Amino acid sequence: MPPVSDATRLLSGWGRTAPSAAHLVEAHTDAEAADAVASVGSRGLVARGLGRGYGDCAQNAGGVVLDGPANSGIVDIDLPGARVTARAGTSLHELMERLVPLGLFVPVTPGTRMVTVGGAIAADIHGKNHHRAGSFCNHVESMRLLDGNGDIRTLTPTEHPEEFWATAGGMGLTGVVLEATIRMKPITSSRLRVDTDRADDLDAVMALMVEGDDRYDYSVAWIDLLARGASMGRSVLDRGSFATEEEVTAEGIRQPLEFATSQLPSPPDIVPSGLLNRATIMAFNELWFRKAPASRRDALMSIEAFFHPLDMIAEWNRIYGKRGFLQWQCVVPDEGHEVIRNAVGRLSGAGISSFLAVLKRMGDRNGGHLSFPIRGWTLALDMPVTPGLGPLLDELDEAVVDAGGRIYLAKDSRVRPELIPLMYPRLEQWREVRSKLDPAGRIHSDLARRLSLS
Ligand SMILES: Cc1cc2nc3c(=O)[nH]c(=O)nc-3n(C[C@H](O)[C@H](O)[C@H](O)COP(=O)(O)OP(=O)(O)OC[C@H]3O[C@@H](n4cnc5c(N)ncnc54)[C@H](O)[C@@H]3O)c2cc1C
Repeated sequence: MPPVSDATRLLSGWGRTAPSAAHLVEAHTDAEAADAVASVGSRGLVARGLGRGYGDCAQNAGGVVLDGPANSGIVDIDLPGARVTARAGTSLHELMERLVPLGLFVPVTPGTRMVTVGGAIAADIHGKNHHRAGSFCNHVESMRLLDGNGDIRTLTPTEHPEEFWATAGGMGLTGVVLEATIRMKPITSSRLRVDTDRADDLDAVMALMVEGDDRYDYSVAWIDLLARGASMGRSVLDRGSFATEEEVTAEGIRQPLEFATSQLPSPPDIVPSGLLNRATIMAFNELWFRKAPASRRDALMSIEAFFHPLDMIAEWNRIYGKRGFLQWQCVVPDEGHEVIRNAVGRLSGAGISSFLAVLKRMGDRNGGHLSFPIRGWTLALDMPVTPGLGPLLDELDEAVVDAGGRIYLAKDSRVRPELIPLMYPRLEQWREVRSKLDPAGRIHSDLARRLSLS
């Protein structure tokens, strides 16, 4: 059966830099997806979810992009076993809407719930609980993969570890994930009990995190990147765990498992690129820092307020204007903590205007050949694209490599390709598995070409 509809579209990532044109194909069934792979031309095909990757990972200039959300829906809910089987285009938002009222939460959520199961697997996403729960694919029991041969394989971490872990974090380059079964986290309320601490500088927040993160399921520090001198790295640290039903009903909440979200209108698409300048971000950061309590214990917060505050503003990426923005996210082992200090110091010293700068702890890595997380510190910063930024980030990348760390491929739009094998030492092993899954090279993306991944 032919794909239901298709069209040539200009696609970009969340950062809106480097758009490219591709044939966007909607495949609603396994057979339609298999047809799309079988009939692909020399520029190949890649799957796309909700386009929340920052760079070019879900683009394929001149080729085919398979529209993930066309293939969405929950297939099965196993309540006693706390498991869900969903089509790969299902968003984490849809999973939360259906499953939170039943007492199940996704095992890992990024800073937005507007990502698909397929995108979560392909980037092996991490959340504020990596130090406790690992990344998304640690909780995937099985997945169905349409490989570059057009074969559909069921992969599990025990029966097909090589193919499974090449796909987990493999940025969509081993094939198209069609469906997955995920172990969920049982919860008895939809609120989190959160402790907040304001830290006066970077050393203070890092010390607080080292000393106390293990007591909480979730932890994240927001850093004021514009603070300099003695205040460099001043932060607001939020840490929490899900509250119990008894804890929330004691506070007068009648529907302990209610999943409520809100949304403000999108900003217009004509925001001038200079709107987010140093002065506006400085004012925002000052307000954010001052509004946070110096120390607060046991505040009840909703899932949206704690995990996804940015989702309240649809298409907030427009506020950076048409020139777009990028995110630099690194992870370094614990002993490389100086790289984090140096990066915050260099970027704040250079006056980089970032209102989203977050620091998290990461736990042990999993088997994903290209999976990003390793034990240590991860720092993520949004910043507008400005002249002079490239050379500074190149220097920071090299410091990350020297410390045994890496840059997150799902966020990248500019790293130098020669650094990739140093950042991802299992790249060769991944290439071997990939070439078995896609010997004819049918699966391709702009990211893969830019970084010579495959
Ligand atoms: C505001 C914001 C906050 C974020 N916070 C975090 C965070 O805290 N932690 C984190 O880890 N990430 C975070 N991210 C990044 C995001 O989680 C990942 O980029 C995720 O992969 C996006 O999923 P998506 O469905 O939008 O996929 P896309 O962006 O469309 O695609 C991402 C990758 O997945 C592949 N892919 C998509 N669907 C399939 C499929 N069916 N089969 C095979 N491959 C597929 C694509 O080829 C591409 O390589 C954040 C992004 C934003 C915008």
